[in-house]
Amino acid sequence: MSEGIKALFLGGGSEVGKLGLVLEIDDIRLLLDYGISPTKPPSYPLPAPPVELTLLTHAHLDHCGMLPYLVKEQDVSIWSTDLTREISNILHIDSLKVAKVEGYAYPYDKIDVRETYHRVIPVKPFEKRSIGDIDLKTYPAGHIPGSLMYKLEDSSTNILFSGDINTRDTRLLLGTKPVKCDILFLEGTYSGRDHPDRDELEKEFIDTIEEVVSRGGIAIVPAFAVSRSQEIAMILSGAGFDVWMDGMGEKIAKILLRYPNYIRSEKKLRKALSEVKLVKTSQNRKKALKGEVILTTSGMLDGGPVLWYLEKLRRDPKSAVLLTGYQVEGTNGRQLLDKGSLDFYGVSQKVECQVYYFDFSAHAGHRELVEFAKGCSPEKIILFHSDNRKPLAEDLKDFAEVITPENGEVFEL
Ligand SMILES: [Zn+2]
Repeated sequence: MSEGIKALFLGGGSEVGKLGLVLEIDDIRLLLDYGISPTKPPSYPLPAPPVELTLLTHAHLDHCGMLPYLVKEQDVSIWSTDLTREISNILHIDSLKVAKVEGYAYPYDKIDVRETYHRVIPVKPFEKRSIGDIDLKTYPAGHIPGSLMYKLEDSSTNILFSGDINTRDTRLLLGTKPVKCDILFLEGTYSGRDHPDRDELEKEFIDTIEEVVSRGGIAIVPAFAVSRSQEIAMILSGAGFDVWMDGMGEKIAKILLRYPNYIRSEKKLRKALSEVKLVKTSQNRKKALKGEVILTTSGMLDGGPVLWYLEKLRRDPKSAVLLTGYQVEGTNGRQLLDKGSLDFYGVSQKVECQVYYFDFSAHAGHRELVEFAKGCSPEKIILFHSDNRKPLAEDLKDFAEVITPENGEVFEL
């Protein structure tokens, strides 16, 4: 790497979404993640130049959503965990369905999605490989099951690419640990924001459901299909509520159980899932409406069964919506938080249920990111995946050179 490393963000530099990083090391050009922003319509990163290999950190659409397009354009292999391959495949198929329903053109089709699956060469956590003269090592990222960080090393320097990370333990996963490196590419989603204490948050969540149920309402818990749905099921486990689970969360849960090495406790996840009732058919949904808690997708209320339930319950002030993740600007969930209304299949309607937000984030908060970065003891930090990098950059400057590149800007390291 002595001749200098060239880097370029195709997307996801100064924003949370559509990540793509091109790294040129020792004449080898790599692509790290290639995602879309699943807004309506979706937003895409810049086109990728020819690359020799793609490293995928995890199965979220803003990191993996554009890979079928890459595969359509280039004969390239993708490295990721086998679990990331499985979940990405489901997300790709689902995003094609969403595009069809919403009526917008998509940059790839089913054949490209199938081909993408076959191009993945699985790697394991803590595995070592070589790419030419570069040594690669993987580390678990603590973000969602199957997520990885990648460390690239040659004779003169080394780079750690964080992808998305969480350093705190959750019910589903153990948090990640710092890895010593010279150059750190660090995600900054929570720059300037800290999370509440997890135990207190879980208690508050259960207490709120208790309150809703005891006044005769239903607690609707929208959750992301990947990771969050299963984590919430684990938090609800043993609390004694009549819980119904609907949507893609169940499908993902079954996959996680096929890859138990990536989760903290297979036994506890299995137990949690055995305690929830699954909504198998739309007929079943009426039964769920007689229960106490409905755990369903989508997490930001942009489609999914959650809208069916909310259409039925929206006039009931005794019922409540308990949001379990950050609601991005422009989503239905954000509209619910800000205006108390929801877009139901094109028609905006008032929602009289109470609305709560619980910060069950899968990302490290500001203080945790600073701690993590310190532990890595890098000389340089490149901040990305953030729409507000300044507060984090300020704190990191105390111990490293901080670089905040824009999308489309080639920079040297
Ligand atoms: Zn992610």
